[in-house]
Amino acid sequence: MPLTVRPRRKRSIRIVVTLLCGMLPIVFGSVILYLQAERTLQHSTRQTAEEALRQFDLMLDNTAQAARELLPLAGKDCEEVKLALREQVTRRPFVRSTNLVWDNNLYCSSLFGPFKEAVNAGDYHEGKLWLMNGNPVTPNTALLVYRLSDGRGGALTTLDGYHLSNILRLIGRETLLLLQVGDNWLSADGKVHQGALPALPVAQSMLQSNRYAFSVSAGFPQGETWRYMADAYPPLFSLLIFFGVVSGAIGHIVQKRSTSPSHEMLRALEAGEFIPYFQPVVHGDSKQWSGTEVLMRWNHPKEGLVRPDLFIPFAEHSGLIVPMTRALMQQTAALLGPQSAGFATPFHIGINITASHCHDLELVEDCREFLAAFMPGSISLVLELTERELIEPTDITRQLFEQLHSLGVKIAIDDFGTGHSSLGYLRKFNVDFLKIDQSFVAMIGIDALSRHILDTIIELSAKLDLGIVAEGVETQAQAEYLTAHHVNFMQGYLFGKPMPAADFINALSHH
Ligand code: C2E
Ligand code: CA
Ligand code: CA
Repeated sequence: MPLTVRPRRKRSIRIVVTLLCGMLPIVFGSVILYLQAERTLQHSTRQTAEEALRQFDLMLDNTAQAARELLPLAGKDCEEVKLALREQVTRRPFVRSTNLVWDNNLYCSSLFGPFKEAVNAGDYHEGKLWLMNGNPVTPNTALLVYRLSDGRGGALTTLDGYHLSNILRLIGRETLLLLQVGDNWLSADGKVHQGALPALPVAQSMLQSNRYAFSVSAGFPQGETWRYMADAYPPLFSLLIFFGVVSGAIGHIVQKRSTSPSHEMLRALEAGEFIPYFQPVVHGDSKQWSGTEVLMRWNHPKEGLVRPDLFIPFAEHSGLIVPMTRALMQQTAALLGPQSAGFATPFHIGINITASHCHDLELVEDCREFLAAFMPGSISLVLELTERELIEPTDITRQLFEQLHSLGVKIAIDDFGTGHSSLGYLRKFNVDFLKIDQSFVAMIGIDALSRHILDTIIELSAKLDLGIVAEGVETQAQAEYLTAHHVNFMQGYLFGKPMPAADFINALSHH
C-alpha cells in the first residue's frame, strides 16, 4: 500500500501566498493612487475649462459691446458712419473689424467702407456666433463673428482667432482645450474644424457659456493617468513597494510560524528523516539473536538524532504516527528483506504500534505488504502494543486482530506491569507475548517487592502459555536471574544497544 499522507502545503503554494501578500498593498495602493490621479486630473480639466470660459466670455463682452454701440447706426449711409466703425476697432482690444447690415446685406465695413455681401443668419449658431476658417481678407485664419440684429438692421463685430487660440494654448498648457461654436470647433493650433467635437479620453470636462453660444471642452489624451502617476507619485510608489516587501515578509514569517510541530514532522516524513534503529532480542537460554525490535529515530538535519519519546507523542496527537510507522515498516522491509534467506528459524521483528493504528483495517494491508518482502516463513512479525494505552474492543478491532492473526502476525503487550490490562483483555486480543517493563528488570537484586511482581508475571505468562520478553537487561546478574526463571527472550544493553541498519546487518552475519 502506498504511503498516504496528507499533502503538506507545497513550497510553490507558499511562494504564491508570500507573493500575494507582497502584491496586495502594491495593487491596492496602485488602485487608490490611480483613482486619486483621475480625481486630480478631473479637477485640473474642470479648472482649465472654467478659466477658458471666463476668458472667452470677457473677449466676447468686448466684441458684443462694440456691436451694441454700432447697432443704432445700421441703415445709415456708410460714408457717414464708417469712422464710427473704425473707432470701435481702434478702441477695443479684441475687435478686429466691425460691419453694418441692412436687410441681410453687409453694406458697410470698417476695413473697406461701403461694401456688398449677403448675410445669412443661418450661418450663425443660435443666430449669434459664427466660427469661421478665415475670410477673403485673411483666409485660413480663424475668426469669430458676433452678430447683433434688430429688425432690418444689424451689426457684425469680429474677434481674431489668434486671441482665441492663444487662450487655448496658454490656459490649456498640459491640457487639451477646444472651443466649440455650433458645428465648428477650434483647436490650440488655431485651426477651425467642422463636425462633432472629438472625445478627450481622460478626465473630459465640458462647460457651456451661459451668456454666449459657445462651449469649451478640456481633457487629456489616452494614457495620461499613468503618465501623471509616473510623474507625480514616484515617492508614493517607493512607499508602496516598501509596504509590499514588509507585507510579503510578514506573510512569509506567518507561514513559517504555522509550521507547527506536526507540520515539521510532516516535512520530515516526506524528507525520509524517520529511520529505523534495530535492537537485538536474544533467546533466554542460548543468548543467540532471536530477532529485533524496530525503534524509530528522527534523523533531524539540525538537531541530529532525536529520541522517539520526544516526538512520538506529537506524532500520535497529530495522527501522523500511522503514516510514520508505515514508512518505518517499508524501510525495515527494504533493509531486512534481502537478509531473510539467511534466517535459519523465524526471526522476530517487533514493530511498535499505538491505539490509533487500530481504528481501521489499514494495518492489515501494511503487515501483508511487510511480510511479502521476506522469504515465506523466514520471519515472525510481532506488533508491540503498550499496556499504558488500552484498546477499546469494538467490531473493527476484533476484525483487525482476527485478520492480523490469520496473516500470522503476533501481538505483544509492551511495558507489561505498568498498566491495567486484565486477563480478559489478554484473551480478547489473542496476545502472544508479554514484554516485561524494564523498571521491574532494573529492580532485580535491589527491591524485593518488584522482584515479587516480576516472578508473578513470569508465572502468569507460563500459565497462560504466553511467550515472555524481558526488557532493559543491563547486567549479567539480571540475565542469570531471568534465565533461571525460564524467561524466553531478553532485550537490553547487555546484548546490544539500538543501532543503525548497517551496523545491525553487519552484526547479524556474526550471530
Ligand atoms: P519501548 O517500546 O519500551 O522501547 C524500549 C526502549 O528501551 C527503547 O528506547 C530502547 O532504546 C530502550 N532500551 C533498550 N534496552 C535498554 C537498556 O538496557 N537500558 C535502558 N535504560 N533502556 C533500554 P527508545 O528507543 O528511546 O524508545 C522509547 C520509546 O519510544 C519506546 O519504548 C516506544 O514506546 C517508543 N517508540 C520507539 N519507536 C517507536 C515506533 O516506531 N512507534 C511507536 N509507536 N513508538 C515507538
Ligand atoms: Ca516496544
Ligand atoms: Ca517497553
